[in-house]
Amino acid sequence: MPQVGAPDLDCEVVVVGAGFAGLYAIHALRENGFSLKAFESGTSVGGTWFWNRYPGARCDVESLAYQYSFSQELVDEWTWTERYATQPEILAYAEWVADRLDLRREITFNTRVSRAVYDEDAAYWTVETDDGSLTTARFVVAASGSISAPQVPPLEGINDFAGETYHPGRWPAEGVDFTGKRVAVIGVGSSGIQLIPEVAKFAEKLVVVQRTPAYTLPARNRPLYEDEILCARRNHVELAERARHTHSGINLPIPGDLLLETEEPKRTIMLEKNWHLGGNLFISAFPDVTSDLEANEIMAEFVRHKLRTIVEDPEVARKLTPTDYPIGGKRIPTDTNYWATFNRNNVKLVNVGDEPIVRATRNGIQTTETTYEVDAIIYATGYDNLTGALTRIDIRGRDGLSLQESWSGGAHTYLGLATVGFPNLFTITGPQSPSVLANMFASIEQHVEWIAETLCALRDREVLSIEATPSAEEWWADQVDEAVENTLYLHAKSWYRGTNVEGKAPKFLVYTGGLDVYRRICDDIASDNFRGFSLEGAKSAKPTQEKVTV
Ligand code: NAP
Repeated sequence: MPQVGAPDLDCEVVVVGAGFAGLYAIHALRENGFSLKAFESGTSVGGTWFWNRYPGARCDVESLAYQYSFSQELVDEWTWTERYATQPEILAYAEWVADRLDLRREITFNTRVSRAVYDEDAAYWTVETDDGSLTTARFVVAASGSISAPQVPPLEGINDFAGETYHPGRWPAEGVDFTGKRVAVIGVGSSGIQLIPEVAKFAEKLVVVQRTPAYTLPARNRPLYEDEILCARRNHVELAERARHTHSGINLPIPGDLLLETEEPKRTIMLEKNWHLGGNLFISAFPDVTSDLEANEIMAEFVRHKLRTIVEDPEVARKLTPTDYPIGGKRIPTDTNYWATFNRNNVKLVNVGDEPIVRATRNGIQTTETTYEVDAIIYATGYDNLTGALTRIDIRGRDGLSLQESWSGGAHTYLGLATVGFPNLFTITGPQSPSVLANMFASIEQHVEWIAETLCALRDREVLSIEATPSAEEWWADQVDEAVENTLYLHAKSWYRGTNVEGKAPKFLVYTGGLDVYRRICDDIASDNFRGFSLEGAKSAKPTQEKVTV
C-alpha cells in the first residue's frame, strides 16, 4: 500500500479482536501482503469462546458447520468429537488455528483498544490501547464481536450484594465450584438455559429468575461418527460452496411441506420426527413457521405440549410456558435437560411476571413476595449486542464525530460494513449485516474476504480512503427494514431489536434477507466500482483531493 502524503504509519491495518473474525482477518490480510497489528483484550485467542467458560457452554450450530471453511487443510487436520462442540473444544480449535497459521505473532494480547481517532487530512487512524500505546494505520478492521459486550441490569442495590457475582461472558478461567451453595441465576436466554442444568447438579439451592419464558429445543447432542467426519472432509469443497450460497450459511435439509398445508396425522408425525432430530433442524423443517403466525402457533403449541409432558408441577409448567410471542421471534436456545431441571427439589422458579424483583440486598434478591437469600448471583442477562463492543470504544471519525453519538438514534451502516463519517473503518459482522442470523463462520468468512478484496482493489488504485455515502446508508436501511417485514421477528421483544438494553434506540439490527442474497449484493457493489462508497485518491499531507463519489 503506498503511503502517499501520510506520516510513516506503523502498519496498514489494525485489527481489533482475535476471535474467529479477527483470526481470519489477520490471516487473509497478511496473505494479501498487508502489514498489520492486532489487539486482543483476552490473554489468548478465541473471543467469545475465550470468555464464555460457564458450565454447559457449547455451540448451537453443529460442529461440522461451525468451523472455518476456507482451508481444506484445516478441515482435514481438526477432528471434532461431538455433534455440538463444547466451549473447551471450540477454544482449543481457535488456539490450534492460531498456531497452525502462525497468527499469534501479529497479536498483542491482554490489551484493549480504548480509542481510535481518524485523521481526515492524511486519511489514517490512530488507535490507542489501554496501556497508553498509540498505533497508526490506514485502516481499522473491527472484529470485536457481535455478542461480546456483557450487560447486567440496572437493578437497585446491585452493589449491596455481598456474595459472589458472575456473568457467563466473563466466567473465571479457573471455574467456579457451586457445591453446597445457594445460587440465583437471573436470565433464561441461551446462556442461562445452558448453565442452569449444570449449576443445579451442584448447588444446594438454585433460584432461577425468569422474565420471559423461552421456547427451547432439545439439542440432542451425541458423539460424532467417524463416517460423518470423513464424509464432510471428502466433500468439503462442494459442501462449503453450497453452504456459502444458502440463506443461513448452513447446509440444512431442504424444508418439507408447509405446516398449514400438512393434514393430520401427517402433521404431528412430521413435528415429532423433527423434534427428535433436535436443535434448529426442528424449526427449519417447515418453511411457513418463520413467516406465518398461524403456522408458527401450531409449532409453538406443539413445543408447549412437550414442556407440559416434561415438567411435573403444572404450576411450574405454566410459568415456564411462553405464550405471548412466536417461536423463533427471539433467538431459540438449544438445551440439554433444561425443563427437566425444574423437577429437581433444589430448584425454584421465580417468575418476574408474578413477583417482580424489587432490588438486590446484601444477602440476595428481594421480590414483591419475599427475599431469596443466596451466596452467588449469576447475571445471565445478556449483552449489548451488535453495537456495544464498538460503541464502548471511543471511536472518533471525521470532525471528531463519535460513533457512540452517531449511533445514538440506532446504528446506521452501509451493508453493516461501513458507516458514514468513519472512513477506512470496517466492521466484521457489524449491525445490519446477516451476522448472528446466519452461521457466524459463514458470515465472518464472507465479510473478511470482501474486506480483503476491497483493500487489495484500493491498493491497486492508490485509493487512500473509502467511506459510505449517506444515500447508500439510507438505501441499505430500507433493505434491512423491508427484509424483516417478511419475518416474525417484529412480534417479539429481543436483542435483535435492541430492546434488551435500557436506553438503546429500538431498531432491528440484523439483515434478515439471507446470507446468499447479501453476498450477491456485496459482490455486485464491489464490482460496480464500489457503488455507494466515496473513494479518495492519492493525496499529499495538505491534500488536493481527487474525490470520486460512485
Ligand atoms: P439473552 O439471550 O439476551 O438473554 C438474557 C436473559 O436475561 C433473558 O432471559 C432476559 O429476559 C433476561 N434479563 C435481562 N435483564 C433482566 C432483568 N432486569 N430481569 C430479569 N431478567 C432479565 O442473553 P444470553 O443468554 O447471554 O444469549 C445471548 C446470545 O448469545 C444468544 O441469543 C445467542 O445468540 C448467543 N449464545 C449462543 C449460545 C450457543 O451457541 N449455544 C450460548 C449462549 C449464547 P427477557 O427475555 O425478558 O429480556
